[in-house]
Amino acid sequence: MIKSPLDKYQRIEKVGEGTYGVVYKARIVATGEIVALKKIRLETQEEGVPSTAIREVAALTELDHPNIVRLLDIIHQGNDLYLVFEYLEQDLKKYMDKLKELGTPFLSANLVRSYLKQLLSGILYCHSRRMMHRDLKPQNLLVDRSGNIKICDFGLARMYSIPMRSYTHEIVTLWYRPPEVLLGSKLYSLPVDVWGIGCIFAEMSNGKPFFKGDSEIDQLYHIFQICGTPNETMWPGVSQLPDWRPVFPQWRPKNLAELCPNLSPNGIDLLRKMLTYDPAKRISVKEALSHPYFSE
Ligand code: AMP
Repeated sequence: MIKSPLDKYQRIEKVGEGTYGVVYKARIVATGEIVALKKIRLETQEEGVPSTAIREVAALTELDHPNIVRLLDIIHQGNDLYLVFEYLEQDLKKYMDKLKELGTPFLSANLVRSYLKQLLSGILYCHSRRMMHRDLKPQNLLVDRSGNIKICDFGLARMYSIPMRSYTHEIVTLWYRPPEVLLGSKLYSLPVDVWGIGCIFAEMSNGKPFFKGDSEIDQLYHIFQICGTPNETMWPGVSQLPDWRPVFPQWRPKNLAELCPNLSPNGIDLLRKMLTYDPAKRISVKEALSHPYFSE
């Protein structure tokens, strides 16, 4: 019998379901090493997985940074790709859910600062290669017991249209999606990741999601109610975006310091810069890393 390259791995248990597929904990039969095996179904033409997609994924094995989950191997079988990643014990969402059960829902100020710095370093590494993530959320940030946090799925979103539903047709969370994408801009770029990180920053320090919308319009209104309804003065061109409506309700910005009582004044300043409407004025990852918040 012809052996499949998948036989190298023995599945142990299913550990999660993401936007693109199922994730298993698995063992490399030859060495006993534990890995994560992710089965993803690509949006395909009839002839199967396009070779450009395979080439793009293959390029991701070159990403080598302590805050990016290592992609160790790729196996292509029919319409499926199996991605083999280094294994980490849990994701940030599960970790925060556990803390909630214990009655201490938010992370300590030091852990928030350390996680944020690690996330920004991982993203800087990818952004400097013109690669964006586009779908950052606590579910694809993996954490270990030594205080490390690593980003999973970098580069994958590029092969898909912006996900609305997962492969199981579940609605993909909108909570970390930036206003330019929600307003239908097709020309978004690296600042989308900064918005997502800003939302995660606020969530880590508050112990609950910052903008918790359940539809695209509800998501926009959650953002408007906290950051104020945007206008041409603060965001030139906003009224030209495809999904902008002149009838949007008008809200005034709220005080972020009151909404994030666990953050220091420097933390609030950094958060405000990350949650800036105009993507051109939003702080870049590189600038964020040299913000005084990190030298407190
Ligand atoms: P994702 O498709 O990356 O969102 O993965 C779905 C879920 O599978 C995540 O929320 C994690 O709980 C789990 N998972 C993904 N990658 C790994 C990994 N490398 N190690 C351990 N668990 C993972």
